[in-house]
Amino acid sequence: MNATELQTPCYVIDRDRLEDNLKVLRGVMDRTGCRILLAQKAFSCYAVYPLISQYLCGATASGLFEARLCHEEMPGRENHIFSPAFREEDFPEILSICDHIVFNSIRQLELLGQRAKQAGLQVGLRINPQVSTQPTEHAIYDPCAPGSRLGVTLEEFRKASAQTIGLLDGLHFHTLCEQNSDDLEITLNAFEEQFREWLPKMKWVNFGGGHHITREDYDIPRLERCINRMKQGYGLLVYLEPGEAIALNAGYLHTKVLEVQHHEGAMDIAILDTSAACHMPDVLEMPYRPPLKESGQPQEKAYTYRLGGPTCLSGDIIGDYSFDTQLKEGQTLIFEDMAIYSMVKNNTFNGMPLPSIYLKQGSDYTLIKSFSYQDFKSRL
Ligand SMILES: *Cc1c(COP(=O)(O)O)cnc(C)c1O
Repeated sequence: MNATELQTPCYVIDRDRLEDNLKVLRGVMDRTGCRILLAQKAFSCYAVYPLISQYLCGATASGLFEARLCHEEMPGRENHIFSPAFREEDFPEILSICDHIVFNSIRQLELLGQRAKQAGLQVGLRINPQVSTQPTEHAIYDPCAPGSRLGVTLEEFRKASAQTIGLLDGLHFHTLCEQNSDDLEITLNAFEEQFREWLPKMKWVNFGGGHHITREDYDIPRLERCINRMKQGYGLLVYLEPGEAIALNAGYLHTKVLEVQHHEGAMDIAILDTSAACHMPDVLEMPYRPPLKESGQPQEKAYTYRLGGPTCLSGDIIGDYSFDTQLKEGQTLIFEDMAIYSMVKNNTFNGMPLPSIYLKQGSDYTLIKSFSYQDFKSRL
């Protein structure tokens, strides 16, 4: 079908853009010998896992369900898992489908590490290198902030027994969010400085996610120098597990204008058939302003509107945008960069319908999935 036939609201995954990103990531793998995994928490649309599998080594999971999805939909690929704390009920299945497990504390490593090794998994530990490189307004995304529950500090690591540390095949850190490789380098310097004596005993180091590798201004040569440093200095295999970078700018959210409101002495408002709270929660949580096709900053173009959703939440506001012409009821608007942290995070608050998911190839669209009243009712 073509773009005008899409039922709104809907997410559209742009296969060509996704493949462009995968080629960039594959280039890093080919030049350095590192391995790149999909962090499924950002993007789990498994209809395109066959495509992703052609370029990447596998996926990483935040828990049993994502691990199962990788096991089922990327068969034969590496299946890594990390969790702040594993549940005993989940553990047997995790051991039967994963090949790498990363623990978050010495306690969990002591408790479960030996079982994982016996089941044939490679065992890692998440480190907190205690270097915050994120802007302070991003504290919610900073696992290095004081009192963080994520990762083991050098001080804690030193207290573990040699036997416990002997279980480890690798070390893992994840401290970045939408950052460039200069911040990775700062983090890696601290990590290397702190953990140098243990690195020659490891097989691999995992640099986590948050690398905005497919962004225009990303410094890929610096990333590759970081990878090569670990490889040449310590014989380590380097893993990267980006989420965002894989589907960055590779998806859209199509929506229709339901009503245009005029308010005396205030900005005009357009109510859309999509909700920030339900369909793009990071807009409110991060927060950020999603790019919108053929629009400008407020007042930049002739007509400025505040775009809001159809829920009862007063703050269900996507942002203020300007247009060359007045918005009309029934008109379609297209938000960009909507593949990541959207489908995986949406919800049916207010009984809102879940957007359908389409795949775009060239100018052709195919429906991957649509949702109904049952999807709302079945969860309650
Ligand atoms: C969130 C997360 C990722 C992926 O992060 P992106 O910012 O989407 O690249 C990778 N690893 C871990 C442990 C994470 O928590």
